[in-house]
Amino acid sequence: MPNKKYFIASITLLVLSVTGTFFFAVINSLLISNLCLLMLIAGAVMLIHWSTISYNWKCTKCSNIIELSMWQNIKGMNIGINEKYLFCPACNKKVPFKGIPK
Ligand SMILES: [Zn+2]
Repeated sequence: MPNKKYFIASITLLVLSVTGTFFFAVINSLLISNLCLLMLIAGAVMLIHWSTISYNWKCTKCSNIIELSMWQNIKGMNIGINEKYLFCPACNKKVPFKGIPK
C-alpha cells in the first residue's frame, strides 16, 4: 500500500474524531463535540486526498492509464473495491477503471 503512514494517520483521525463527537455530545460538551466533528471532516478529506495521490486508474477496456484530480476522485462512482466508473478519453465513453498503486 502506497503512503501507508498517511493512510493510517487519516484512519486514526477518523476513529478518534467519531469517538470524540459522540462522547462529548453525550456528556453535553457541545463545543468540543463540534470541534471533533470538524476533525472528522478533516480526516475524511485526508483520506480522499490519500487515495488521490496513491492511485492511478487503468481502463478495463483499452488499458489506458489516467490520473485523477481530487474532485474527479470524489465524483467518480465507486463500483467495487478499487473500481470506479470513469470517462475514458481513449474509448470516448464511461467504462470501469481499476485502481493501481503508484
Ligand atoms: Zn479506455
